[in-house]
Amino acid sequence: MNEQSSGQAAPSVPSAAIAVDVPAKINPHLGVGNARADGYHALSTVYQSISLYDTVTVERADEPGIELTVAGEGADTLPTGDDNLAVRAAKLVAIYGGVEPDVRIHLNKRIPVAGGLAGGSADAAATLVACARLWEVAIGDAELHRLAAGLGSDVPFCLKGGTAVGSGRGEELTHVDSRGTWHWVVATTDTQISTPECFKEVDRLREEGIGRFSSDVDPIVRAFESQVGADELARLLVNDMEAAAVSLRPQLASLMHGGLEEGALAAHVSGSGPTVLFLVADVKHAVALARRLRMRGGARSVHIAHGPVSGPAA
Ligand code: ATP
Repeated sequence: MNEQSSGQAAPSVPSAAIAVDVPAKINPHLGVGNARADGYHALSTVYQSISLYDTVTVERADEPGIELTVAGEGADTLPTGDDNLAVRAAKLVAIYGGVEPDVRIHLNKRIPVAGGLAGGSADAAATLVACARLWEVAIGDAELHRLAAGLGSDVPFCLKGGTAVGSGRGEELTHVDSRGTWHWVVATTDTQISTPECFKEVDRLREEGIGRFSSDVDPIVRAFESQVGADELARLLVNDMEAAAVSLRPQLASLMHGGLEEGALAAHVSGSGPTVLFLVADVKHAVALARRLRMRGGARSVHIAHGPVSGPAA
């Protein structure tokens, strides 16, 4: 005799949790144009996903609502209410699907927070995918892209992963057929730079005649398509926000020089910073450089990563 036929209430069967791994992004080319009428800057960028992952887990809750918990490095600094991009993403899926949200979301953060690696955007992208699966909401690619773009300029790329050119404010994507794998050492720092603060500094420096819009992404796109070696890629990395990030936080310059002295092929500020990416030849080089950077001090944490990798919707 089973429990149901005995007249007792059926034990509540825990619905299966859905876990989605989502990678961080870097911008091997970040060209920044002038501010547009809507306040956004025109971007001409190349995105690439690298192997630093957050994991977003969703499961049905017994009560209606959206509950968020966060663990991992920097978890205590993050909002758990409506300001968290994962909560906003879950709400969008619920509204789109016409369902009452009843979800527990858990973020396991391994992407350094506020590091210019789009961790929040990555969580938002993964939550869109995970909640659509959980509530069985069918969302076509175009609609998913529209919801993602409403959450932030980097979110559409975070859905796709791999390598892509971004234009507009970064949300208009063209896939790049990148052939090869490149290796990075990712050094985070104790300082913080908000993205708006960095754009403001870009504008200020431009008024002084410093900096230009690197709109041409063709050389680096061709390099990814033709699987160039890391030493050649090193010469093609571009970040129009780098001077602004270093101007705001001069200590980034000594971290960058330190990595180059220790043998990195290139030092590249990630997005608006303050994380610094060091391009290396291969995994062995990455391990050796990471060890030397840790011994030197000056970085909050040092990680090894490679790219491109696939996104959560792949
Ligand atoms: P940006 O997209 O502004 O360039 P970033 O890549 O430098 O951001 P994020 O880790 O995305 O860094 O964090 C930026 C800010 O976004 C954080 O300070 C935080 O308050 C907010 N935020 C909201 N939701 C999240 C989330 N799920 N993970 C990380 N940060 C989040």
